[in-house]
Amino acid sequence: MNRCFLAAILTPLLLLLPAIRVYAQWVPTGTLAAVPVVQDCNETGGDVAVSRLDPPTIYICQAVVKLIRRKNPGAEHFYFVHEFGHVAQGTSDEAAADCWAAKELAKTPNGSRYLAAAIEHFRQRPNEYSPRYGSPNERAERIRSCAEEERPNYDAVDRPVLPKRGETPERRRAGCIKTAEPCKTPSASRLGQPLGASGPS
Ligand SMILES: [Zn+2]
Repeated sequence: MNRCFLAAILTPLLLLLPAIRVYAQWVPTGTLAAVPVVQDCNETGGDVAVSRLDPPTIYICQAVVKLIRRKNPGAEHFYFVHEFGHVAQGTSDEAAADCWAAKELAKTPNGSRYLAAAIEHFRQRPNEYSPRYGSPNERAERIRSCAEEERPNYDAVDRPVLPKRGETPERRRAGCIKTAEPCKTPSASRLGQPLGASGPS
């Protein structure tokens, strides 16, 4: 086997690596694996996802998933895990579902990518206050602190790029140079329709 032949085999494999990394997501296990996930935008009523507890069912709207993914790739996955947080804990409490999802992702290989995307997603929508979720900045901080609670000793490679309170875009960009995570500049722009995972109704 000569070097050219090796390169011919290895190059496509190496090119595939980023795609594999993107798709290595959290998956429900145990009793959660039996919870049906239904694609139905009518059930979500404009939100990306909702969950019902009796019987436990999760509804996803792919049209909204695509909108989120376009702006903050990976953030849509946080909403998915969040809904399982409602089912796993049998609660409609949004903070509890957020914290559960953050901890689950903190335990998952590549989960830090999704956590960082979700935190960025909420920080880019500072004006969308909701009595059930609090402000998006509070939500971002909740996700960050719950993830750190689960894994206080992230090593340097696995540690997500977590925007800190008061961080400027300039400081953020400077920090991003040293990491492998995609770098985005926070902006005030929004998606064209309301988003947000809803709890059981
Ligand atoms: Zn919820």
